[in-house]
Amino acid sequence: MGLPKIRSTTRPRGATPLEAPASGSPLSTLRSKLAVTSLLLGSLLLVFGISGNETTDLSPADVAGTAPSNADFTSPEQATGGLSSEQAPDHNAARPSPPPAEPPWREEVVRNGDNLSLIFARAGFSDRDVYEVTKADGGRALRKIYPGETLSFQTSPEGRLHRVKHKESALKWSTFTRDGNTYRTEVTVREPEIFEQSATMRISSSLFLAGQAAGLSSKVIMDLAGIFGGVIDFALDPRVGDTIELVYEEAWIDGDKYADGDIVAAAFTNKGETFQAYRYTDSLGDTSYYNEDGVSMRKAFLKAPLDFTRVSSNFNPNRLHPIYKTKRPHRGTDYAAPTGTPVYAAGDGRVVEAGYTRPNGNYVFIQHGETYKTHYLHLHKRRVKKGTRVKQGDIIGTVGSTGSATGPHLHYEFLVNGVHRNPRRVHKSLPKAKSLPEAELPRFEREVARPGQQLAALKNTQNLASAGSRGESSGQ
Ligand SMILES: [Zn+2]
Repeated sequence: MGLPKIRSTTRPRGATPLEAPASGSPLSTLRSKLAVTSLLLGSLLLVFGISGNETTDLSPADVAGTAPSNADFTSPEQATGGLSSEQAPDHNAARPSPPPAEPPWREEVVRNGDNLSLIFARAGFSDRDVYEVTKADGGRALRKIYPGETLSFQTSPEGRLHRVKHKESALKWSTFTRDGNTYRTEVTVREPEIFEQSATMRISSSLFLAGQAAGLSSKVIMDLAGIFGGVIDFALDPRVGDTIELVYEEAWIDGDKYADGDIVAAAFTNKGETFQAYRYTDSLGDTSYYNEDGVSMRKAFLKAPLDFTRVSSNFNPNRLHPIYKTKRPHRGTDYAAPTGTPVYAAGDGRVVEAGYTRPNGNYVFIQHGETYKTHYLHLHKRRVKKGTRVKQGDIIGTVGSTGSATGPHLHYEFLVNGVHRNPRRVHKSLPKAKSLPEAELPRFEREVARPGQQLAALKNTQNLASAGSRGESSGQ
């Protein structure tokens, strides 16, 4: 399959629809929770008055071309109208003229502190209506509403409540339609189409800018940084010319991107060394990222314990300036970043000191097991207290310039058995990351074969493009 190098804002035609995302992702969790699924396509056909099974191979785009001009085919409210087995007269296929407009919907957004009585009252309906709708089969679910969701109401020509729609998200809504003195319930769950997308990047100033130039969302860039956060210091390691290839997923609905999905595989070549990461769901159902040998990408320590996207210069390692005008050697790593930049716990541990001294300013010390300790100095704010247990990546404070600092930066120290070590060099002596068990490896290798080939193809494309632009061969 050809991998598009240039991203497009339209639906990726050449892309392959995939299986459901790995278990544990929000999308699949949503799916598994719900029992009744209504297919969008089926409902569209009813809405547009197209009858007959032979039309079911129409794509939404094809259907759109035949839609009456007053029909909004992307509108869920239109779609739900046709879901019941008995087709409403409005949707009669034989009708020659466009169907009359549905009664208008009145939409109420659920606010903080709302309840059904309040919302129904705003829409002009009574507590009796609330009672009747919620006693319907499935109506109890309506009592679980959250701020930001919407409730929409339709009134019959006689002025009675005709239909209530509870929209939880673009992917799920329930419709309660009056049927005499009771309401019948339909739950509609839509599944987005999952497409694979790919991108290549060459760093000229920072990962973040390279990612933006490649059309990646902030979420995908942050995911990428998270996956490689144990092996690459994104504040200090990247160099001009470093390359990244990645394959990731996007969820689409009605020809529009609905959400970014997960990264499937990625490779980062930093100063000539290539790190690869593959998403893998093991036979127990746990999803994580592993390198090509099945070693977990999650390490005991982050290489850069702060939000790297806000570090001032990616190419200014340790050259901030001598912070201390004292004679003692500089025993840490400095990250110049704006005041307020989040500082993370480099690894799981317990805060053993948190306070203020004149040289350190606001500081936090974290003990990690018996052997390791990390220090964070000159913080603007401390977010943890002595004794707090922290997980890797928890925010423990923010960058500042308290104590003897000439400008806002994080001074980070790494100690092994009480001795200061260069955190950027010490990694070989750190605890080994978990590997997949032997028995899991054949399955792992089968599953990462295809993304592995995709990464290799992307890398080739990238090398060719680069050789072309320099007018020389990259072959050796
Ligand atoms: Zn320093």
